[in-house]
Amino acid sequence: MTPYTAMLRPLVIFLSLLFATPSTQAQNVDEFVPSNLLWFFYHEMGHALIDIYEMPIFGQEEDAADVLSVLMVNEFFEEELSRQIINNAAYAFISFSEMNEDDDNAIYADVHGPDLQRLYTMACLFIGGNFEERKELADLYEIPDDRLEGCEEEFNLAYSSWWSVMDEAAVEGGGETVVFLGKSSKDDPIKQAMFEIFDEELKELNKYYAFEHDIKVDIEDCDEPNAFYLPDERTIIMCTEMATLLGEMLE
Ligand SMILES: [Zn+2]
Repeated sequence: MTPYTAMLRPLVIFLSLLFATPSTQAQNVDEFVPSNLLWFFYHEMGHALIDIYEMPIFGQEEDAADVLSVLMVNEFFEEELSRQIINNAAYAFISFSEMNEDDDNAIYADVHGPDLQRLYTMACLFIGGNFEERKELADLYEIPDDRLEGCEEEFNLAYSSWWSVMDEAAVEGGGETVVFLGKSSKDDPIKQAMFEIFDEELKELNKYYAFEHDIKVDIEDCDEPNAFYLPDERTIIMCTEMATLLGEMLE
């Protein structure tokens, strides 16, 4: 059930930060940036799988993509590392919400839900994925009791919805369906760091999964801090500006 349990990546640093409050904790850039790049990559994988498997989505697709991201973090990482990734993503959502706090149009007209709502739903689902061990995190993420009560049920529904597709793709011996187009760029430290993170991550995905079509992943300069899934090319683009912005959030 947790094929990546033994997997520890180079980004595993400073686990002691886990139990600080997300709004006040001093994050470490070596942990924060890779954690969030993975978080947003899994979100883009959600868009890719919705496209490839022609999944019916009865709501905001952006929410469905966030849900897959939580499920992947829950499934692929051992407990402390998964907590670290969720905690770093929470801090990023708080930072994003602060950037937009005076702009109702940006908050409510966007295809994504409001950042703080994304944070609460992520945290609730994560807690629901291992309720007895994680329910104490409700204080950290300020999840009210009436939401907390339903988190396990929310997780179970999300899991049974998404994991039917993931189970179908989980095959003995894995595959080569996640195709990395990124190149090592020794003269560009951000690209190089991103190359190393995704080179490792995509190899891990290919060890366990073979998807119905190839999904290409590339690292590009995009002129905006973002990540995209391009359905026509079945390609996920992770923008270097996203890594830069995440790094700047801690300054
Ligand atoms: Zn999205």
